[in-house]
Amino acid sequence: MAKPILLTVDDDSDVLRAIERDLRTHYGADYRVMGSDSPENALELLKQLKVRNDSVALLLVDQRMPKMDGVGFLHEAMRVYPDAKRALLTAYADTNAAISAINEVNINYFFMKPWDPPAEHLYPQLDDLLGDWQATYHPAFQGIRVLGTRWSPKSYELRDFLARNHVPYQWIDVELTSSDAETKLLLEALGPDAASLPIVLFPDGTKLLESVPSEVAQRVGLKTHAQTSFYDLAIVGGGPAGLAAAVYGASEGLHTVMIEKEAPGGQAGMSSRIENYLGFPAGLSGNDLARRAVAQARRFGVEILSPQEVVSVRTEGSYRILKLMDGGEISCHALMIATGVQWRRLEAPGIDRLQGAGVYYGGGSTEAMSCKGEIVYVVGGANSAGQAAMNFSKYAERVVILVRGSSLASTMSQYLIDQIKATPNIQLWANASIVEAHGETHLEEISVMCSDTNKVERVPASSMFIFIGALPRTDWLGNLVERDERGFLLTGPDLIREGQKPKGWTLERDPFLLETNIPGIFAVGDVRHGSVKRVASGVGEGSVAVQFIHQYLSKV
Ligand SMILES: Cc1cc2nc3c(=O)[nH]c(=O)nc-3n(C[C@H](O)[C@H](O)[C@H](O)COP(=O)(O)OP(=O)(O)OC[C@H]3O[C@@H](n4cnc5c(N)ncnc54)[C@H](O)[C@@H]3O)c2cc1C
Repeated sequence: MAKPILLTVDDDSDVLRAIERDLRTHYGADYRVMGSDSPENALELLKQLKVRNDSVALLLVDQRMPKMDGVGFLHEAMRVYPDAKRALLTAYADTNAAISAINEVNINYFFMKPWDPPAEHLYPQLDDLLGDWQATYHPAFQGIRVLGTRWSPKSYELRDFLARNHVPYQWIDVELTSSDAETKLLLEALGPDAASLPIVLFPDGTKLLESVPSEVAQRVGLKTHAQTSFYDLAIVGGGPAGLAAAVYGASEGLHTVMIEKEAPGGQAGMSSRIENYLGFPAGLSGNDLARRAVAQARRFGVEILSPQEVVSVRTEGSYRILKLMDGGEISCHALMIATGVQWRRLEAPGIDRLQGAGVYYGGGSTEAMSCKGEIVYVVGGANSAGQAAMNFSKYAERVVILVRGSSLASTMSQYLIDQIKATPNIQLWANASIVEAHGETHLEEISVMCSDTNKVERVPASSMFIFIGALPRTDWLGNLVERDERGFLLTGPDLIREGQKPKGWTLERDPFLLETNIPGIFAVGDVRHGSVKRVASGVGEGSVAVQFIHQYLSKV
């Protein structure tokens, strides 16, 4: 943890060196001693320290300086570090000024020059002051800080990205905490930059203005570029299916790369509690599962590129070549497609405009705590909606699940229906569909069509989470890989029609169980036609497919 700072200011460089030396000798083990030979520079330094979230314990300042005297400096410095102890270094002739400063800028002490011996004239008094300061000192947060506003889609995207990639950070909502003294000081220290939200502040004092996930990813060391250009196995998608394939592939000696567009964990990473995954009787959060799987994959030497998107694929002989969003290419012998599904969009006026500003697709785990004391709407009747409702019920005053049907019975697992029934602040609004979302800068109201009364009701709403089914993420495959009418990938026996192998298939054998119509390209998990759409089945398919990859590679 960074040590608190003792800052001393004196325009006489000999005196400055002497006071710095004495402070360092006595306090160097517990404090960082900094010196400045001009009050103007020292004020600039204080602003930088504020942005870095450093703590300043003491300002020890010469009174007689040409452009700004010590009292004037302390007056300004108090605005940046109001809790720092303030002391003046004075010559005998300045004693009167020092005494009047006790009231003017609340100085805590004044020292007479020279202060020799310090053991008598400096340390005992400073020990007292610093002891007082320590009594109320709370070490400042030392990691990444994100400044933004709750209703800004850009801030939401950034926070969601950091949370899903397990990057710890402190969130500062500059609107919500606008009357907070610390926020005011920080914004003042940032000056005109404060307008460029969202801002990411790093512990080394650097900052990213109007920051976007890809820039932050680079700064926090997430790997987005491949080490080499050729792999035995390339996996596209880092959900449960892709992660399982990565762990099994690498543990069995395949040189493996996994490319993930957003954050490892996929949809499962958004689940607040997975209760039906084998071996976890008390359930576990999707975030936990993803974190453990990533650690396991890394231990076996899987190269994980995230965030990085695969935009297209082509074949050249036995090579499968992936084109990445940043223009790079990766080639491999075997390719595993594990790109899962994405949320189906809700088609209603206002929804697209307010997305990220009160309207969210999926769990929005970052938002759960922000909904404290509010009414939260969850749209959809499947398990994912039920889990989200249970999660929000811990923070929100009330959670309303909106479903088009008359009940949850046909769409949700019984265990979740039972939990919902037993949770008093969750309410079901059946026979209801959203027809419009209203609000200027963020969601304020929703219009709901009630099919039993044929009436539209307009109700206040600040947060709405949409879970209305999923579409496969297969657009990037062009026409290369065969799909069903909804876009899910066909594999193994699904490709054999009337005993015929797929068109263009030149091998003697039939496609393997999880292989597509292109030899060496496999598909696993939710993206696959006929898949079960569960974590365990994705994990199962990802690991089983590796066996077929070995068979395929033995003949390439
Ligand atoms: C909120 C919620 C709760 C759930 N709860 C449960 C539960 O309790 N139990 C259960 O068994 N199942 C649950 N499920 C379902 C389960 O999460 C999914 O079945 C599972 O995640 C599917 O895994 P997957 O790896 O096939 O795909 P996904 O999890 O969808 O992962 C696919 C990944 O591929 C990435 N990707 C897509 N396109 C590209 C590209 N072009 N380039 C690079 N990367 C790309 C995506 O960013 C994504 O991370 C839940 C789902 C949700 C949304």
